[in-house]
Amino acid sequence: MTIVSSPFGPASPHRSWRQIALELARTPNRQQVISLIAELTDALDSRPRCSICDQRCDLESCKTDEAGLAVHEDCLVIKLTLKRVSDDNHS
Ligand SMILES: [Zn+2]
Repeated sequence: MTIVSSPFGPASPHRSWRQIALELARTPNRQQVISLIAELTDALDSRPRCSICDQRCDLESCKTDEAGLAVHEDCLVIKLTLKRVSDDNHS
């Protein structure tokens, strides 16, 4: 995984809200303002991200995988099913 040193370099998948707010304050581009506000809203969302699909986990549907990371129950079922299939293919 590469660390992006410049806040204005290639967008890392999940920037901190501070980085987004800083860029929001500086951009004159209206279209970019709209997308930055959406990104900022997402960054301020305190729900954990699913480690499988990278979407936010609601507490009702959130489970933890074997590594203790937040995952959707559905995603976990799919992951375990795929793992079993691939394990079966190896044996
Ligand atoms: Zn998920």
